[in-house]
Amino acid sequence: MDSFDVIVIGSGPGGYVCAIRAAQLGMKVACVEKRATLGGVCLNIGCIPSKALLQSTENFHAAQADLASHGVMIEGIKLDLARMQQRKAEVVSANVKGVEFLFKKNKVTWLKGAAKLAGPGQIDVEGTLYGAKHIVIATGSESVPLPGVTVDEKHIVTSTGALELQQVPEHLVVIGGGYIGLELGSVWHRLGAAVTVVEYLDRIVPGMDAEIAKAFERVLVKQGIKFRLGTKVTGAEATDTGVTLTVEKAAGGAPETLQADVVLVAIGRRPTTAGLGLAEAGVAIDPRGFVTTDAHYATNVAGIYAIGDVTRGPLLAHKAEEEGVALAEILAGQAGHVNYGVIPGVVYTWPEVASIGATEEDLKRDNIAYSVGKFPFTANGRARAIGTTDGFVKILADKTTDRILGAHIIGPDAGGLIAELATAMEFGASAEDVARISHAHPTLSEAVKEAALAVDGRALHI
Ligand SMILES: Cc1cc2nc3c(=O)[nH]c(=O)nc-3n(C[C@H](O)[C@H](O)[C@H](O)COP(=O)(O)OP(=O)(O)OC[C@H]3O[C@@H](n4cnc5c(N)ncnc54)[C@H](O)[C@@H]3O)c2cc1C
Repeated sequence: MDSFDVIVIGSGPGGYVCAIRAAQLGMKVACVEKRATLGGVCLNIGCIPSKALLQSTENFHAAQADLASHGVMIEGIKLDLARMQQRKAEVVSANVKGVEFLFKKNKVTWLKGAAKLAGPGQIDVEGTLYGAKHIVIATGSESVPLPGVTVDEKHIVTSTGALELQQVPEHLVVIGGGYIGLELGSVWHRLGAAVTVVEYLDRIVPGMDAEIAKAFERVLVKQGIKFRLGTKVTGAEATDTGVTLTVEKAAGGAPETLQADVVLVAIGRRPTTAGLGLAEAGVAIDPRGFVTTDAHYATNVAGIYAIGDVTRGPLLAHKAEEEGVALAEILAGQAGHVNYGVIPGVVYTWPEVASIGATEEDLKRDNIAYSVGKFPFTANGRARAIGTTDGFVKILADKTTDRILGAHIIGPDAGGLIAELATAMEFGASAEDVARISHAHPTLSEAVKEAALAVDGRALHI
């Protein structure tokens, strides 16, 4: 039987990064992956293909709607969806091959097939047993099904099917106002689909700062996306031509029907654990099915660990990666650690929305006195020059110490801009610290500086 120091099950951003870091630290490592390519949901059917399509459709929309205002006149703009999808496939292929290359470079063995736990220190990959001192479960997550709505990945799709549509739907109904639904809704809306988002709650992007969420909803409505908030879907009937959805008010009421060519079910994700043999191995899971671990990613069974989407915390690729590194370092006897208070979350729509740390709602709930500094992109010279002035930067700082507790941005390149505030928060910076840093002019980052100044009521350019 081949034996390793570490066997990681799953090659998503949690698993492959854990495997590489463990190998860097001198351990003999294998990573099991049942998919034909490495990289997990993120590289194959998640972050990377969605961002490829978001970029392509942003370009298409700019050519149609924005470039003329810059004096760039293009006639006969046409969509070649097959080419767009081909480009996305090429981007995915380059990324997944990149992981394969990194495995070779770091001497990580790829065990191909589905793994299950097979007794202490052992796993079974399609009938072959392997031994390991440490087994890491990094099997990720999958789309949550909605009762009464049967996914066929043709007319009723998950995000996986929504990334593969070969025709622009006339009407796309997105069930769920979270980031995946809004990103993919934006993709197809930019290509000409009418898009309706049906959300059970009375707001979109749950968990994000409520003021930012409201502003985000307004921008998307201005773009033409329709919202049915406080509404639940109770059934769906798919035919060859489309889908009839039955909806009603979340609080109850008369049922209504909605016609759609394609329905995207994006109500959340759940851990992937089927067939892993967790129950037989005695590995504890929580009531929602996530593998339970202690602060060092150890499950209740000695030698078995879990990281990434399959365990608690935000379902984000960079959270999974940080956990992969931290666990590999812990297994090597070092002090691996993840600061869960400073993990950014980004929605890659146009404009982007980015969030880190506490929301205003969190601070109110926890009775923490805070100051707010805000600065709109309408007052930022670079945003005007680019032609994207929707949105603002909002910084929340402790009223007494001025330490930054949270930051929320809606606007151009919000996902890039939040990195400065992540750095500041990681170093325990105050709003004053950020306000005193020289930010290059003219950049969007000046809006961050101005919001930091605004915490103390002294923004300069508004
Ligand atoms: C459409 C979409 C867009 C997203 N966009 C973003 C984004 O922009 N930014 C972001 O941070 N996050 C994004 N995410 C979330 C992100 O993809 C996940 O948080 C991330 O992939 C989790 O990584 P992971 O390593 O935990 O698991 P995964 O990436 O889910 O990988 C788990 C891997 O384990 C394999 N596996 C499972 N069971 C077994 C088994 N028994 N044997 C062998 N292999 C097994 C699976 O085949 C899979 O490849 C997106 C997700 C989706 C669906």
